Amino acid sequence: MGLSDYIFPMRCHLCGAALGDGEEFLCSSCLASLPRTGYHRHPDNRMARHFSGLVPYVRASGHFFYSRGNNVAQLIYDLKYRRFRNLARWLGECAGAELLAAGFFDGIDAVVPVPMHFWKKAVRGYNQTEEIAVGIHRATGLPVITGLTAIRPHRTQTSLSPEQRRRNVSGIFRMRHPEEFEGKHLLILDDVCTTGSTLTAASEAVSAGAPTATLSLLTLACVF
Ligand SMILES: [Zn+2]
Repeated sequence: MGLSDYIFPMRCHLCGAALGDGEEFLCSSCLASLPRTGYHRHPDNRMARHFSGLVPYVRASGHFFYSRGNNVAQLIYDLKYRRFRNLARWLGECAGAELLAAGFFDGIDAVVPVPMHFWKKAVRGYNQTEEIAVGIHRATGLPVITGLTAIRPHRTQTSLSPEQRRRNVSGIFRMRHPEEFEGKHLLILDDVCTTGSTLTAASEAVSAGAPTATLSLLTLACVF
């Protein structure tokens, strides 16, 4: 502990309790109470079924339940819009460790975070999904490939209908070095899955550029 920890003790991001030894960002109680989907234990889970017929995947999971106003929504908002970049890494590492123990990463060669257009990334300072990927790398040792690129900015998806979202991101992603992806089992990663349109568009770009790649899908949180 440094001097600043005595003057400003580290507090839980959600409940404000002072953090103890070994705790970061959240107290153990808040971390334990985050709603987990447990989807990785059920291959035929709701998220996997959502992508059935849209994307050929090996497995698919969203780790935490996201709903308006819940603690997961608060954390996602903060890591996206309030510059809590390290919170994104830490949550990625927590989810990664839980999924690793359950064998979710078996056979996966690399993590491919969904990219953000460079202009948006310049404004925000980072792409939160890439930060989540860094956390997963820390937990699993899997390399992170940032070879997908967003060729144009897209509108924020929040106010759009499912069909508008699909059109908003359709064809938005390209691969810079498809040879890096060929023959690999890639985990396409995003922060939140709401309609699945972003993950679908990213997966289509990978499949188009590297037809021999196989895909799995993961989001830190999902709405269903
Ligand atoms: Zn707490």
